[in-house]
Amino acid sequence: MSITKLARAQVQALTPYQSARRIGGQGHIWLNANEAADSGEYRLDCSRLNRYPECQPPQVINAYAAYAGVTPEQVLVSRGGDEGIELLIRTFCEPGLDNILLCTPTYGMYAISAETNGVGIIDVPLNPRRQPDFDGIIEQLDRVKLVFLCSPNNPTGDLVDKAGLVRLLDAANNRALVVVDEAYIEFCPEFTQADLLADYPQLVLIRTLSKAFGLAGIRCGFTLASPEVIGLLQKVIAPYPIPEPVAQIAAQALSDSGLTTMRARVDEINALKTRLAEQLGQHPQVAEVFAPNGNYLLVRFTAGAALFARMARAGIILRDFGSKPGLSDCIRITIGNSAEMDAVLQVLQQEQ
Ligand SMILES: *Cc1c(COP(=O)(O)O)cnc(C)c1O
Repeated sequence: MSITKLARAQVQALTPYQSARRIGGQGHIWLNANEAADSGEYRLDCSRLNRYPECQPPQVINAYAAYAGVTPEQVLVSRGGDEGIELLIRTFCEPGLDNILLCTPTYGMYAISAETNGVGIIDVPLNPRRQPDFDGIIEQLDRVKLVFLCSPNNPTGDLVDKAGLVRLLDAANNRALVVVDEAYIEFCPEFTQADLLADYPQLVLIRTLSKAFGLAGIRCGFTLASPEVIGLLQKVIAPYPIPEPVAQIAAQALSDSGLTTMRARVDEINALKTRLAEQLGQHPQVAEVFAPNGNYLLVRFTAGAALFARMARAGIILRDFGSKPGLSDCIRITIGNSAEMDAVLQVLQQEQ
């Protein structure tokens, strides 16, 4: 008898999430995981590493609340935004009974976390304008506990329309939670939905330090919600989710000087993105450049797979979305530093 047979049937049937790291590849320019091109400088005080850390380090919670314009009672810190997504599912969805709703094409972890927890998935695909189909979602509200929207959407870059979101929130009152994943909101902060948190306890936001803050390696993310929702999530989260060094680095990243560094990085990435989008837009092998709201561009090429292979041969690793519904020939390019963007353009100019 094989040990695999001992695992839950649900787990035996799973295919693990194809993260950028797991797909891997040979290359020297990594533009496939929406990471920042630079890290930062941080100091570590190792004098308390013998002690268990605080479950919710107050210096991190308070700094994030101030940054996001909410109260500390509205903030949960977790191992990346991904753990926030999973905690929501584990807290609100009964395995084998409940469903989440998502709108493809979108971030893969909503479906993965639902599947690993035995929770069903209802897909209401984005409409042809790549907006959530709000009427279609509202029709499903009695069948789902959580609605996942992503703004800017990974990988398409589109923002969730505020009027539509408000209509959904009104319909979802006392029926379901609406989760808006704002992992990339620092690249277009004027479009946050955080102002709605005060009026809508059924709204939840997901945030992260992995993208604009350049800290994917420390695994630190945030859930913003009503104190009632945060209290429920705190019942489910592990007792020591945030390692002490992570808390120290996060607090420094959220200090005044950390925020200044982050905003300078965002300005630089946005400028490089605008330049790349213009140059791609004029290129004969580019059919479409999608909405430029994150630290990435989704691009439809005339022949996506060939372009992806050409980049890989040049050591440039991108993310291929060509197999996803509606995204044939689409490749996502993370905005790295200017040398990396030049390398991408150089490969494009060759052998046209
Ligand atoms: C990167 C990302 C996250 C969270 O990433 P963590 O590294 O787990 O914080 C969440 N949502 C989307 C859409 C992302 O792209």
